[in-house]
Amino acid sequence: MESLIGLVNRIQRACTVLGDYGGDSALPTLWEALPSVAVVGGQSSGKSSVLESIVGRDFLPRGSGIVTRRPLVLQLHKTEEGLQEYAEFLHLPKRRFTDFSMVRKEIQDETDRMTGRTKQISPVPIHLSIYSPNVVNLTLIDLPGLTKVAVEGQPESIVQDIENMVRSYIEKPNCIILAISPANQDIATSDAMKLSREVDPTGERTFGVLTKLDLMDKGTNALDVLEGRSYRLLHPWVGIVNRSQADINKNVDMIAARRREREFFATSPDYGHLSSKMGSEYLAKLLSKHLEAVIRARIPSITSLINKSIDELEGELDHLGRPIAIDAGAQLYTILELCRAFDRIFKEHLEGGRPGGDRIYGVFDNQLPSALRKLPFDRHLSLQNVRKVISEADGYQPHLIAPEQGYRRLIDSSLNYFRGPAEASVDAVHFVLKELVRRSIGETKELRRFPTLQAELAAASNEALERFREDSKKTTLRLVEMESSYLTVDFFRKLPQEVEKGGNPSASAADRYGEGHFRRIGSNVSQYVAMVSETLKNSIPKAVVHCQVREAKRSLLDHFYTQVGKKEGKQLSQLLDEDPALMERRQQCAKRLELYKSARDEIDSVSWSR
Ligand code: GDP
Ligand code: MG
Repeated sequence: MESLIGLVNRIQRACTVLGDYGGDSALPTLWEALPSVAVVGGQSSGKSSVLESIVGRDFLPRGSGIVTRRPLVLQLHKTEEGLQEYAEFLHLPKRRFTDFSMVRKEIQDETDRMTGRTKQISPVPIHLSIYSPNVVNLTLIDLPGLTKVAVEGQPESIVQDIENMVRSYIEKPNCIILAISPANQDIATSDAMKLSREVDPTGERTFGVLTKLDLMDKGTNALDVLEGRSYRLLHPWVGIVNRSQADINKNVDMIAARRREREFFATSPDYGHLSSKMGSEYLAKLLSKHLEAVIRARIPSITSLINKSIDELEGELDHLGRPIAIDAGAQLYTILELCRAFDRIFKEHLEGGRPGGDRIYGVFDNQLPSALRKLPFDRHLSLQNVRKVISEADGYQPHLIAPEQGYRRLIDSSLNYFRGPAEASVDAVHFVLKELVRRSIGETKELRRFPTLQAELAAASNEALERFREDSKKTTLRLVEMESSYLTVDFFRKLPQEVEKGGNPSASAADRYGEGHFRRIGSNVSQYVAMVSETLKNSIPKAVVHCQVREAKRSLLDHFYTQVGKKEGKQLSQLLDEDPALMERRQQCAKRLELYKSARDEIDSVSWSR
């Protein structure tokens, strides 16, 4: 029977070590789903003393005034007979305490560490585990006592602060409440009953404990309370006699104290008939039995919580990615896999399947034609400018037949304008490609863990794109230059020959320098330029795709691959440097998963073995 509570205790202990209570998951944590026992009561009502006698060991700071100032989560683990008893704090995982007076000192010191040597309180719990053959498996929580007024050195809010802290523990539906009231006070004034009734109105998880029975006025007894007439609870009341302050001062040990308590009940004229159901030993057994029953009833919901958590954790682990290999070969392989995953997504953007590649077509279909249309040929080939260029071309000697030089100059200077749109197309496509690299890196889920590799990949890709851009610029500008290096002769052959046309040479000579003449030249050049524009509108995209897009698809990471291939083990693991926060989360996740899985297996085996 013991095994079930022991199991829960072990799971709780593991939860504590993982910091797995409170929890950041949407599900209640395993810790919260498991039952525990908390003591509640007024200051000096005997809470710490009750806990000590349940444990059967002196180890808690006790006395008058506010002694317990931080919650103490106390886990009792029953060990095999004959093994040495020891205690262990969560905040001192390497140290085993066998001297329990040192445990008390550490609790005091650790309390002071958080609150200073004041009368202040802190809600941060101290976790203590006790391993002993003489305890029952239990998790007990000692809490600061409820008070009515702030004393010297305490803030005004302390009364409320303590109440809130205590309530936060005992309001959890899985918390079993040990409500401690001193017998030498009227039960109607009991803080313990007041608060526990508030959070557990039906009393199904409240155990009433009456301390200080030995301190009652002569001639009075607590039978009305103990027999449930004053204050009805679902569970029976338990009366207790702890050590008095004088006993403590005289170092009366626990064994003697327990014996005295037994004798007190056995020989008491008032309580003799109840003696088998009184005392700390009985209380410990009662609690243990109750806890066992509660756990048994909760097993289905605990199991289902565990299963849900396992699913959740496995999902998260998949999302975070599995741990990385350590040897260089496997690391290189991982890096190349990651690069390929990125490259695949990048290609999908270019070729379709993912958006963005269409913007390149947009450059060719809209941006380039509209830039070509906007070139200032009207101004450049205006009558005025044509006249100026043609006149200047022949110097002092006017041309005799066609103004060959003039034509050439006009055409050359016009074609120069195409450089602008050519370069602009190259740049526009470059930026689209750069943006697609950025997006693809973001969309490569596998890369998310590796910020360093992400940065390196981005740098390498951008460097490659920069090279492609240079090359593309050279090629497109060369296309433009080619147009001016050799003109399409046919075009000019087809032009009507002015000289032969006119019958009157003198008239034609006058015409040669007239407005109509220049206008005709302007219109001829303009037609030629339009023809070239049409050609470039088609050939620039070809050059750009050839030099940039096709290269990006084919060899974006070629350079990077060669570099990575030359790297040593250490440099490789640097590339796979994970975000430390993420690494930490994966570790946490993995540990939790392990805990939940082993909890599931253990619960399975325990509940089947019954
Ligand atoms: P807490 O503040 O509720 O934790 O109370 P403590 O356990 O520190 O006890 C307060 C004081 O009451 C101590 O001096 C104890 O020795 C004393 N005390 C507690 N229970 C009993 C009891 O049953 N009988 C007697 N005589 N003294 C008790
Ligand atoms: Mg106390």
